Amino acid sequence: MTDIPRPLFIGGALRAATSGETFATHNPYSGEVLAHVQVASAEDVDAAVTAAAQGQRVWAAMSGAERGRVLMRAALGIRARRDEIARLESLDGGKPIQETPEADVDSGADCLEYFASLAPTIGGECQALGEGGDAPWFYTRREPLGVVGGIGAWNYPFQIACWKAAPALAAGNAMVFKPAEQTPLSVYILAEVLSEAGLPDGVFNVVQGGARVGRMLTAHPGIAKISFTGEVGTGKAVMADSAATLKTVTLELGGKSPLLIFEDADLDDAVSAAILANFYTQGQICTNGTRVFVHADVMDDVLARLVARAEAITLGDPLDPATQMGPLISPEHHASVLAHIKRAKADGATLVTGGGAPDDPALAGKPFVRPTVFRTEDDGLALCRQEIFGPVMTVLPFRDEDEVLARANSLPVGLAGGVMTRDMTRAHRVAARLEAGVVWINTYNITPVEMPFGGVKQSGLGRENGRAALEHVTRIKSVYVEPGHVEAPY
Ligand code: NAD
Repeated sequence: MTDIPRPLFIGGALRAATSGETFATHNPYSGEVLAHVQVASAEDVDAAVTAAAQGQRVWAAMSGAERGRVLMRAALGIRARRDEIARLESLDGGKPIQETPEADVDSGADCLEYFASLAPTIGGECQALGEGGDAPWFYTRREPLGVVGGIGAWNYPFQIACWKAAPALAAGNAMVFKPAEQTPLSVYILAEVLSEAGLPDGVFNVVQGGARVGRMLTAHPGIAKISFTGEVGTGKAVMADSAATLKTVTLELGGKSPLLIFEDADLDDAVSAAILANFYTQGQICTNGTRVFVHADVMDDVLARLVARAEAITLGDPLDPATQMGPLISPEHHASVLAHIKRAKADGATLVTGGGAPDDPALAGKPFVRPTVFRTEDDGLALCRQEIFGPVMTVLPFRDEDEVLARANSLPVGLAGGVMTRDMTRAHRVAARLEAGVVWINTYNITPVEMPFGGVKQSGLGRENGRAALEHVTRIKSVYVEPGHVEAPY
């Protein structure tokens, strides 16, 4: 990697920041500095918003089909650079190279293709307000909002940038995007492929920095909407700050999701789902089903299969194709996950497996945590209430459907949930009663772009993906048409 601090991307070109400040992004596995990055000043954010406003006018004047063609070419550009982007995500985020080509790169390209296809279909409705040809009528226009601010989290940096940019751009908006400061690199490739695909200058801009730069976006009067991914507490701050200029917000926040394993489930599938729901990306996934409720009749069997499979997971260098779990994102986050584990033990939860660093001397001193499984009957423990965002699963026994649903729904968050059962009537009944934005029946954590994605309760507002996403990046204008005369009472 280059020693020159990476600049911003404004108005279709790389541009030096004016703050004079930089920050370093690290390889979580080696601890080495991967790159230095320039921090945006308020002046730079202003420049990005001005460029975005100019670009947006050009972009919105193009037809949906033309915009779709540009986004489709960008998707091809991403697919052509699949290995390079995947490797960068693994280097910057510590994610296994087993995951990043599909979960990060393909998922981003899929999203651009999907919204490229929808771009020509975005429109309004039309209704006559009477029968005769002289009846008044109205139509609606689905218009872009203008400039959308995107703020990303570090766990799926490239995917998050694509998931935010694709619907916003398809609908004719421009974007100023700020990636998380832990993973600032892959978004440059998105900016490049979009430019090369013919995106007008200024339609996609990148500013860099931490919370301070994020707040510059939420405060900026030239930004109409913030699309944010991150923690619940940060989401609340983003919403409060956005209120000053009455911005709308899409908030993709955290969770503590339940996975319900009934006694009639295929137990190997149930264990596979529990593993997918807890250990993929080192457990650093917002939708993770970290509260695994298991029917008491099958608890011992499930635990035995779970422990065998968790202990067989290969930890190592994210760039080694054999590695199934890499390091956590940073030493700070590692310390936080270990503190949660320590507290859970002190609070009386039973540690079934994992709970600390792997034995492999090659991994000593690196921010690894072994796949960890706790067992408890006490839903009130911090372990069962707080998002840990690491490879820490808690298994809780239950007896009865009503009981487990009450427990599953007892938290203020509601991002996702899962149900494992062969009884399809029960599966749909439970899916209907779970207080969650996304529910999986007989699998977990699969997020096709066609399916709307987002949380309820304190896990978020708005939706990404699916047609639903377009409602959150557009506004409706109603146009009333009077073909006759104006009847005024005075
Ligand atoms: P975070 O909230 O610490 O930071 C997220 C982003 O917000 C970063 O870019 C950060 O610089 C910025 N930021 C921080 N303070 C800000 C402020 N006051 N105003 C504006 N921007 C600010 O989250 P994180 O640690 O990067 O990510 C992990 C969290 O993200 C977890 O809680 C996880 O569940 C959640 N997440 C949710 C989804 C989802 O789609 N629901 C997806 C991925 C991650």
